[in-house]
Amino acid sequence: MIGERRVPAEIGTVIVGGGIVGMCLAWFLAEEGHDVAVVDDGRHAGTIANAGGLHVQLQSRFMRLYPEMVPEFERTLPFYPRAVRHWQALASRLDEDIGLAVTGGLMVAESREQYEFLEKKCRREQQLGLEVEMLDRAALDRIAPYFADSIVGAELCATEGKVNPLLANQAIRRKALAAGVAHCTETRVTGLAQTSGGFAVETTRGPMRTGRIVIAAGAGAAELAAHLGLKVPARAEPLHMNITEATEPLIHHMVQHADRQITMKQLAAGMVVIGGGWPATLAGAAEHPTVELDSLIGSLSLAQHVIPRIGSLRLIRTWAGVNTSVDGRPVVGPVSGISGLFFAIPGDAGYTLGPLTARLVAHSILGRTPEMAIGEHTADRFNS
Ligand SMILES: Cc1cc2nc3c(=O)[nH]c(=O)nc-3n(C[C@H](O)[C@H](O)[C@H](O)COP(=O)(O)OP(=O)(O)OC[C@H]3O[C@@H](n4cnc5c(N)ncnc54)[C@H](O)[C@@H]3O)c2cc1C
Repeated sequence: MIGERRVPAEIGTVIVGGGIVGMCLAWFLAEEGHDVAVVDDGRHAGTIANAGGLHVQLQSRFMRLYPEMVPEFERTLPFYPRAVRHWQALASRLDEDIGLAVTGGLMVAESREQYEFLEKKCRREQQLGLEVEMLDRAALDRIAPYFADSIVGAELCATEGKVNPLLANQAIRRKALAAGVAHCTETRVTGLAQTSGGFAVETTRGPMRTGRIVIAAGAGAAELAAHLGLKVPARAEPLHMNITEATEPLIHHMVQHADRQITMKQLAAGMVVIGGGWPATLAGAAEHPTVELDSLIGSLSLAQHVIPRIGSLRLIRTWAGVNTSVDGRPVVGPVSGISGLFFAIPGDAGYTLGPLTARLVAHSILGRTPEMAIGEHTADRFNS
């Protein structure tokens, strides 16, 4: 009986949030012998709604929306190629295929100005160590001969790719459960307080006591941090998605646009996933992520404008989900002055960063040196 399920009263580590970060982290800690509970209310996970794009190059959408954050995006750029390698390592440890393919990503331009914007971005990314190059239309046609006549060229990032989140989430959850993780679903954390030995956690299925708490709650992190007197400006960003019926292999790369909101990729099963950050709304008292008609029409019109053959495909599903936006950087690791508290919030393109973020936080918890310096990415930057 769902309503009668209680959370474990006492456990070594509580992870709030069972998205890609929380579940990977729980798995990594459990296989090191830790007893771990993941508490998740199942309301707003980007993990179950996302497009499965493995992003590496700077996303022009973020550069346009948040120009003041470009230096922040650049600071975390080295995380992305490493994050894709973490996905590859993770996939090799799973028992099933998760549709992971690192086949490269194209960001297309439709005008001379856009092409020059990409050339500049490409030069900067090369300086920062990314595997990127510019393709004129002839070179683009040799690897992707399906674009509209209006496309003049593209930036290619060889290390980008895609994964099928529906398959990956289930495969990771199975691994976490097999390692002994207690997954407390449909359970909301409503209060957090420090105690002499750790933390008292109030949930909708009873209280918990724990020595360590990890906030991997995406957009829910701001409210949870506030219980402990901390500021973490995580906010919900509801976004729109579409998927078409399956068709023959057409789109090999992940596709984005230099100046307009679109991402497209084709799953191994043939469906084309169309997103790109078109807005959705949070409707009603439950703030349910809800599709906006303008986004549905806008995203699909743009998709067939860029790749005309998409126009003949039927749409089989459209949905909305909640992304988390902070300041363009992750919020990871311990918090000064509160022993046993950790944050685990990825930066932008958080599904790409999920397994890496979990690994960095796991190493921090286990007292090992994380493979990338995380000192400047802790929650301390909001609380000093
Ligand atoms: C439509 C869409 C498309 C996207 N496409 C991509 C993409 O192609 N590539 C990419 O890299 N990223 C993409 N993202 C972003 C990505 O999905 C997220 O950044 C990522 O999944 C975040 O994972 P997470 O584990 O940090 O948090 P989430 O997946 O958001 O999970 C957090 C969980 O914590 C729970 N929670 C919050 N507060 C509480 C509480 N008080 N008590 C209990 N539980 C709580 C939430 O309900 C949720 O289940 C997309 C996002 C959206 C919405």
